[in-house]
Amino acid sequence: MKISAKTNAKEVLKQYFGYTKFRHQQEQIITNVLDRKDSLVLMPTGGGKSLCYQIPALMFDGLTLVISPLIALMKDQVDALKLNGIKAAYLNSALSGRQQSEVIDQLKNNELKLLYLAPERLIGNDGEFIKFLQTLNVSLIAIDEAHCISQWGHDFRPEYTRLSTLKTSFAGTPVIALTATADRLTKDDILKQLKLDKPQTFISSFNRENIHYFVAPKRESYNQLLDFLKNHENESGIIYTLSRASAEGLAASLKADGYDVLPYHAGLDRELRERHQDMFIKDEVKIITATIAFGMGIDKSNVRFVVHMDLPKNIEGYYQETGRAGRDGLKSDALLFYSYADVLKLQSFVEVENNEQQSRIMLKKLHEMAEYGDLRSCRRQYLLNYFDEEAEDNCGSCDVCLNERERFDGTIIAQKALSAVARLDQKFGAGYVIDVLKGSKSEKIRDEHKQLKTYGVGSDINKVVWGHYIKDLLYLGLLSKTDTQYPVLKLTEKSLPVLRGEEKVMLFKVSETVYQSSTKPQH
Ligand code: ADP
Ligand code: ZN
Repeated sequence: MKISAKTNAKEVLKQYFGYTKFRHQQEQIITNVLDRKDSLVLMPTGGGKSLCYQIPALMFDGLTLVISPLIALMKDQVDALKLNGIKAAYLNSALSGRQQSEVIDQLKNNELKLLYLAPERLIGNDGEFIKFLQTLNVSLIAIDEAHCISQWGHDFRPEYTRLSTLKTSFAGTPVIALTATADRLTKDDILKQLKLDKPQTFISSFNRENIHYFVAPKRESYNQLLDFLKNHENESGIIYTLSRASAEGLAASLKADGYDVLPYHAGLDRELRERHQDMFIKDEVKIITATIAFGMGIDKSNVRFVVHMDLPKNIEGYYQETGRAGRDGLKSDALLFYSYADVLKLQSFVEVENNEQQSRIMLKKLHEMAEYGDLRSCRRQYLLNYFDEEAEDNCGSCDVCLNERERFDGTIIAQKALSAVARLDQKFGAGYVIDVLKGSKSEKIRDEHKQLKTYGVGSDINKVVWGHYIKDLLYLGLLSKTDTQYPVLKLTEKSLPVLRGEEKVMLFKVSETVYQSSTKPQH
């Protein structure tokens, strides 16, 4: 009797990995690969991407190449496979010449099922190595962290672009590209650059139910952090900062305040860095303060919190970093300290560091990150929508959903704002509209606008509070804004009834939003 590929894959899962059930879309993905078709797999961190190529690797006759940028992790990955009785090896600069020739011999003798390589090793050396691999029976090529090929991704690696020749060098060999993070733009770019042949894309839900999302306005962030940590005593966590210096400084302050903490950033020498990482993984230190250099590929199950002291550059990076919490499925917290000053700071970096097209995309992503910080609706919904996933509007486990916000009759306030937008001919952004409402004496305000009836009608309301009200009006659909670099406020079909006094508007009370742990609500 012929055993179907499906039964086989399940047996391999059991025999080599000791698991009884497939997760997410593992089974469909493996079937697609076994049919020798190209695949793109988007699965959140910890979702189980590796098995999607490891199981086919065991079932195909020949060799599976695994391309990964994470040289530091190759040894661990290969050791883990060997422990399961799988013939795997890696080639990278950490191996001695002799060790390398041993691997080459094993390859020549068809003794290996999986070979892990960095892209520069695969393509480098004038293509000599590729020529050698072409003499072997390569059954499958897996490209891990595939978003690294895209300039629009958050972790672009130039070496990855050379992988675009793979489909030509290994014609007919199926390719599986995998990533935990890809928005639509990056996803399309991966498919295009790898020249995948009629690829099937598999997208797993990115929702991480056990992670609770919080944003706190950044004021005295160190004290706010200490408050947060009181709710997380003796728990393991990662605190991200923008700069190496602040990772270092924060570790020193927390240590002085009695916390068990070490820093991690690319400025530390390699040995020390690796030691800190290792200690964290083995629970020998509780907290790591780090730049985003930390965490890629780290498989630690009991990270209970991830804090961002500074605004990340985009949602992909943010989601991946927060995704390092709660791999064990237990409740974990993600806290972001948000201030508009951070947006301006990052904006200036983007403008200096990139060409025009890149800048435009990076600024758009930055503004989406800022929008997340400013959000007046469910944060989880925003994150999932960002990844093209539908979601309900009340997750019950983000600060917005947890703080049932009090509302009041804000009809007059709404009318003032809407009529200012109307009288400015719907040609200005929120900042300018607020200045007009406030009756700002600034020279920026055109003289004719100082004559408007709405000029100064909102001077009794604080500028920041006005900002919140405008966001509410956007959220309630009473205003819209253009999708341009400098968004302009526009009226909507819902605006008119309000201006005519036919509809009431309930606005949200603006209070000091303080971080509230979902475990210990402080009302
Ligand atoms: P990713 O690469 O997507 O971040 P991994 O492939 O490292 O995730 O898998 C994360 C963890 O989940 C690993 O410990 C792995 O052994 C485990 N895992 C993967 N698939 C399954 C499954 N079907 N059943 C149980 N555990 C699984
Ligand atoms: Zn929510």
